[in-house]
Amino acid sequence: MTTWSAVLLDRDGTVNVKAPEGEYVAHPDQLTLLPGAGPAVRRLRAAGIPVFVVTNQRGVARGVMTARDLEAVHERFRLLLRAAGAEVDGIYACVHERGACECRKPLPGLLHRVARDHPHVDLRQSAMVGDAAGDVAAGAAAGCVTVRLAETPDPAATVTARSLPEAVTWLLR
Ligand SMILES: [Mg+2]
Ligand SMILES: [Zn+2]
Repeated sequence: MTTWSAVLLDRDGTVNVKAPEGEYVAHPDQLTLLPGAGPAVRRLRAAGIPVFVVTNQRGVARGVMTARDLEAVHERFRLLLRAAGAEVDGIYACVHERGACECRKPLPGLLHRVARDHPHVDLRQSAMVGDAAGDVAAGAAAGCVTVRLAETPDPAATVTARSLPEAVTWLLR
């Protein structure tokens, strides 16, 4: 089995159900985990792998939600995971407008922040999982192995999987 220094997960469309195009998960009651996502995170943690969430939340910059709303959403996120026996080691969000920062994916700033805060994390021995091309680009720019969640293979990613549970099975193979 490959030993990963950490696994970095996108949030919307990877762990929880994505809001419709152009909308945001702005309130805790709008948050639903994807099927099997909780147990998938639990399997990573049970294997001793730290798990971090790295998420773009431009809705804050756009005034669609406040930083406090985002915190409330993340409290609910942790609660739903805990109900599945899972935890994450950290949630990192880019709350900025496009082109206004160095942390909005596809840039790797959020991933570098994880590594800065957690010196035991070696991004070159880590994997980034996400449902968007920007997740793969951010992971690759940080030196991670990348898993794209998609129905059709993404040649830019190390591997493509249909869901987080399938991605985790590959990661723990
Ligand atoms: Mg996503
Ligand atoms: Zn940012």
